[in-house]
Amino acid sequence: MTSARDAFDVARIRADFPILSRRVHGKPLVYLDSANTSQKPQAVIDAVDRFYRETNANVARAVHALGEAATSAYESARDKLARFVNATTRDEVVFTSGTTQAINTVAYSYVLPRLSPGDEILVTRMEHHANIVPWQLVAARTGAKVVPAPITPSGELIVEEFVARLNPRVKIAGVTHVSNVLGTINPIRELAKACRARGIPLLVDGSQAAPHLRVDVQALGCDFYALTGHKLFGPTGTGILWARREHLAAMPPFFGGGEMIRTVSFDGTTFADAPHKFEAGTPNIAGFVGLGAAIDYVNEVGLDTIGAVERDLLAYATEALKSVPGLRLFGEAKEKAAVLSFLIDGVHAHDLATLLDQEGIAVRSGHHCAHPLMQFFGVPATARASLAFYNTRDEVDALVAAIAKVRKLLA
Ligand code: PMP
Repeated sequence: MTSARDAFDVARIRADFPILSRRVHGKPLVYLDSANTSQKPQAVIDAVDRFYRETNANVARAVHALGEAATSAYESARDKLARFVNATTRDEVVFTSGTTQAINTVAYSYVLPRLSPGDEILVTRMEHHANIVPWQLVAARTGAKVVPAPITPSGELIVEEFVARLNPRVKIAGVTHVSNVLGTINPIRELAKACRARGIPLLVDGSQAAPHLRVDVQALGCDFYALTGHKLFGPTGTGILWARREHLAAMPPFFGGGEMIRTVSFDGTTFADAPHKFEAGTPNIAGFVGLGAAIDYVNEVGLDTIGAVERDLLAYATEALKSVPGLRLFGEAKEKAAVLSFLIDGVHAHDLATLLDQEGIAVRSGHHCAHPLMQFFGVPATARASLAFYNTRDEVDALVAAIAKVRKLLA
């Protein structure tokens, strides 16, 4: 029997992504920065192009043909996202500009009104700044504090320590589904169960999970799930906040303006129901049409296939990088997505990334918006290769060969 992995035709997949065939500094592009932003398939580019050529109009306002077509295209993306995360209803899907806006919405609308001095917001040491700083801002207004749960040196959350910190002062917990630096896949079901048993809502930052894993918010048992479209092969400036219906119903709007109201007068304003209550102003209509096309594309390739291909690439890349003398790998969790952060002895991450770029290889270097995690490892920065299903073993080999070249150059 052929497995999904064996039947996978990576050349055909790569042909769907026009940018992958370009050259950089005279070399074929080796794009290993998909955790930063993913590349876009032609189907997404076409959907955005077609929208502006054929359908462009504002949504939910005009009764003319284009207005109706634009609204229907935009709202059909909501249906696709609702199915993609297995929401109970489409009304649980709020369109945002990305994860950052989604988490800020929860911080200001759900958490801020519930915070008192001495309250806590529990996160983990491996969070992206997007799942730390919004909490700090609302905590600072109220005398609450943000508490981190510790991780192991191999980059795994210490679940018992997380659970031990779930005390009655905790008003919300925020955990990344997949770490953007370590690739660690956190045991969300288990954490959600522990939170639920104590009546503490759990927000999951799904930015790095949605492009790689099947997300089922009902099975996960969390309260809020945020994801960003541009890492999911869709346009920048798109994302969703999924939240349980009862939470959205109880939350006041975060932004005010057009489209989020029922009636407005100087005596008082009433608001639309969720999700529109949270979508003030003209949204990124073409972006969401593109995100809908990205969801179709991912579904067509299949998340199980994507998972199998990426697991294979991760195993190959891990072994290849470990064979490089003087290379330190950050993040060796048992459950891990295809993200490899590393440093080479005596080479600064930025120098490494700059020299790799000369070879056509795009990796990210820096703190990856995770200062507390860098502090934990005692380093200012790492280089990070992040893979997607359109990457190949040859590209991993190219990375390893280029690292060897850089080491010789800098030795
Ligand atoms: N959380 C994680 C884990 C991320 O990797 C990122 C993007 N680097 C974000 C949040 C923020 O996403 P966005 O900037 O698209 O809102």
